[in-house]
Amino acid sequence: MPRYDFRCRACGSTFEVSRPMSASDDPATCPEGHGDTVKLLSTVAMTGGAAAPRAAAGGGGCCGGGCCS
Ligand SMILES: [Zn+2]
Repeated sequence: MPRYDFRCRACGSTFEVSRPMSASDDPATCPEGHGDTVKLLSTVAMTGGAAAPRAAAGGGGCCGGGCCS
């Protein structure tokens, strides 16, 4: 289960929450009980290189077929 970092804007502490991806955008409550928290993007970073090489390495035809438009 992925972990997400949150920061509390009320007391400034950071904390981790383990939750399913489907709930990643749900509000989290600070361990001190504050509800004014923001999710940080550090933990679930995109692993490098996934975005670029796919079109070049993968089969042609996808973009030719118009499914990428
Ligand atoms: Zn707090």
